[in-house]
Amino acid sequence: MDFRLTDEHRMVQQMVRDFAQKEIAPLVKEYDRKHEPIPGVLERMGELGLLGISIPVRYGGQGMDYITLGLVSEELEYVDSTLRVVMSVHMGLCALSILHWGTEAQKQKFLVPLARGEKVGAGAFTEPGHGSDFARIQGTARREGDVYILNGEKMWISLATKADYALVTMRTDPHADPPHRGLTAFIVDLHSPGVTRGDIKGKLGVRAGSTGWIAFQNVEVPVENRIGEEGEGFKVTMSAFDRGRYTVGAGAAGLIRAALDASVAYARERRTFGQPIGHHQLIKEKIARMARDYEMTRLLYLHTGWLMNQGQRFTRQASLTKWFGTEAAFRAAHDAIQIHGAYGYSDEYDVERFFRNSRGAMIYEGSSEIHTLIQADYALGYRYDKPLRKELPPYDPDEWLAE
Ligand SMILES: Cc1cc2nc3c(=O)[nH]c(=O)nc-3n(C[C@H](O)[C@H](O)[C@H](O)COP(=O)(O)OP(=O)(O)OC[C@H]3O[C@@H](n4cnc5c(N)ncnc54)[C@H](O)[C@@H]3O)c2cc1C
Repeated sequence: MDFRLTDEHRMVQQMVRDFAQKEIAPLVKEYDRKHEPIPGVLERMGELGLLGISIPVRYGGQGMDYITLGLVSEELEYVDSTLRVVMSVHMGLCALSILHWGTEAQKQKFLVPLARGEKVGAGAFTEPGHGSDFARIQGTARREGDVYILNGEKMWISLATKADYALVTMRTDPHADPPHRGLTAFIVDLHSPGVTRGDIKGKLGVRAGSTGWIAFQNVEVPVENRIGEEGEGFKVTMSAFDRGRYTVGAGAAGLIRAALDASVAYARERRTFGQPIGHHQLIKEKIARMARDYEMTRLLYLHTGWLMNQGQRFTRQASLTKWFGTEAAFRAAHDAIQIHGAYGYSDEYDVERFFRNSRGAMIYEGSSEIHTLIQADYALGYRYDKPLRKELPPYDPDEWLAE
């Protein structure tokens, strides 16, 4: 395994770092306080090619590999989690699901505008009554001739009010036993008649982002918008989560690094008992833990990205990356506040925002409890990955960079 980043990796990393530092960092505190997204941020991400970063050029993307997606997620979350969330849902849940499962016609119709940044994508699975036990969702899709009629409500959806398209999973068979066999996935145009949506107010974190609800009332979705076969929605959604989890884990590396950098700078400046606090052993312990956890999270996500590039199954690794990374990020942000003392308790310093942002990632894309169970089941031999009918295409530079 070669751990060196290529020149292209480093170029993208630097480009994203410059964008986030120059255009986002000066504004993010103000918009986090206002609970509003930074104006024009999605458009800028589109202009920079980030919304199609790991999509083949012939489908409107940049043709970069899956490791690049991880690197971009890390750099974005170094500045604010809300930017990384865009990569997780637009790329991880939506665009890459079309690349994975879509027909050629669906790729031309939906993937090309998503990858070019002309349209924004989301993934809408959670319902008011069903999150972790997604297999039991109640929203329905009833087939009538050439259309499905969608009814139901999706809750806690990132970019709910910003996205143009969403991968939406609904129940097509109310009697399916086990219930996960009765689900089907669709690409839905969120501007369709019968779709209403709104933002959720009063969130603990990701305040400069958009999280909301989407209601479907007799929404007609053409049969040609179905992603995968009828009854295949659970597998389509779980594979979308694999990719979402990869970006969440990679982003967590960015949050840990941000907490570490802020803590190191503060620990070298702030003096107590006649010396910089960095010389106190209990402060060193926290700094050391952050440095360790950053390296571990980074290695985990690079390994996951490498598996994706090879076309190998990465479900187990993505879950581990997400689980370990998000818990480590929360711990790092928590320790960073402690190192900053009372100043860490105010939004004058960024660590308070890191702490609030880190919390949600232990809930979404599979809570820490769910990942604990997944990892235990793999280890115990109770869980293994069966081959999918279709696999995510491996990274092939000749093919991906071809016009
Ligand atoms: C900021 C944010 C953004 C989100 N974005 C999206 C999005 O873009 N798209 C989307 O579809 N959803 C999204 N979600 C929803 C998220 O995926 C769900 O919140 C998550 O799946 C958990 O579901 P729940 O909140 O209903 O909790 P529940 O499933 O009700 O769980 C409640 C608690 O019980 C625990 N628990 C549940 N089952 C078990 C078990 N078997 N064993 C042990 N403990 C268990 C859980 O870990 C949790 O601690 C988002 C959520 C947040 C907070």
